[in-house]
Amino acid sequence: MKTLLSGGTVISMDPHVGDLARGDVLIEDGVIVEVAERIDAPDAERIDATDRIVMPGFVDNHRHTWQTAFRGVGADWTFPEWAVAMHGTVKPHYQPEDVYAGTLLGRLEALHSGVTTMLDWYHVAQTPQHEDAAVAALRDAPGRSIFCLGAGWGTPDPVDAAVRRVHSQLAADGLVTMALGLRGPEATSMDTVAEELKLAAELDLRTSLHVDITAGAVADLREHGLLRDTTTFVHGNGLSDEELRMLADAGSSLSISPDVELKMGFGNPMTGRALAAGLRPTLSIDDVPSVGGDMFSTMRTAFAVQRGLDGGLRSRDLLAFATVDAAASCGLDARTGSITPGKDADIILLRADDLTVFPVTDPAATVVSAGHPGLVDTVLVAGRVVKRHGVLLDVDLVALRTRLLESRNRIAAAAGIPLDGTWRPQPASE
Ligand SMILES: [Zn+2]
Repeated sequence: MKTLLSGGTVISMDPHVGDLARGDVLIEDGVIVEVAERIDAPDAERIDATDRIVMPGFVDNHRHTWQTAFRGVGADWTFPEWAVAMHGTVKPHYQPEDVYAGTLLGRLEALHSGVTTMLDWYHVAQTPQHEDAAVAALRDAPGRSIFCLGAGWGTPDPVDAAVRRVHSQLAADGLVTMALGLRGPEATSMDTVAEELKLAAELDLRTSLHVDITAGAVADLREHGLLRDTTTFVHGNGLSDEELRMLADAGSSLSISPDVELKMGFGNPMTGRALAAGLRPTLSIDDVPSVGGDMFSTMRTAFAVQRGLDGGLRSRDLLAFATVDAAASCGLDARTGSITPGKDADIILLRADDLTVFPVTDPAATVVSAGHPGLVDTVLVAGRVVKRHGVLLDVDLVALRTRLLESRNRIAAAAGIPLDGTWRPQPASE
């Protein structure tokens, strides 16, 4: 089956393909086969990309999707408030069906705003049924997803059995794959970190690890020979420049969640310091109770902060962080992250005729400086059209919204929290 994206403005994010002021993209059986100014393909189904910016879908490599039912409730929270609210107050009341509804609606929202690849950093684990519900939701959303099973969040120790059980259900080359969330030296012993890395290596899983604001965690891991080129470090705002160079030397990745880090007191996003250390940053959403779930605002925050700090970064850098670089951090750069012949067709079409961006003179700069989810007209994942003319296809959003509201209301009632904007979590230290 052939599809031709015809007559769009192409930002390929591939230096060999470049950008095309007017270009066609030919897709065959889900794979990009040609990108050129004009492609003659009379047998292809044609998608008119006139007045559209055609670019690779975004890659979000760190989102705790289960929290979707509580979207927006924590805009004013500090990190201790978020922790007690989400992990202490609501999480104990999550049933598998709540995990399913939150993960599915969260993944659909990400697709809706152009995130074709998303890593679900799962830490609501309690039972195999909860894990299975999250995996089922990721499978039911037509995106490319990575189920990152977080160790140490209620999963029985050791995590070995849980990881092997879920891993046996997911094909390595499917749209939903698996990663392992490490608890790291801030939360467990180096022996346990080593065991978890050994398990990940045996199953060929990439790993992800929160290091938050503490300095020294990366140096400790390096001292124990535990830095890997398959690990993505999340946040890392407390890391020294020397530790960032250690990550660069090891080939590890860094995931920055700019809005969460700024609002919750972690510090400034590390884009500039990471680049100076030779490390390509990537971007992620983290928590939708606190921040929006789209990569446009995420890029813009990171961009504005770095420009405010030292005048660094160009708009195209942000696009790279949110596409090709993040794809590499997920081990998926051979399949996604750019419009490159041979890669899967994970592509979004943005409205260039929308009044919020019109007239578009510099497409990449426009996407970063003024882009928003309302521009996302069409989304393809592995060549399958999952959103068209601004509407997600083949999903019953009315029913799903009802389901998520019921989930939220039931959990809130069980946890005794108000839903009128007056919920102020009380961390133990206050
Ligand atoms: Zn996180």
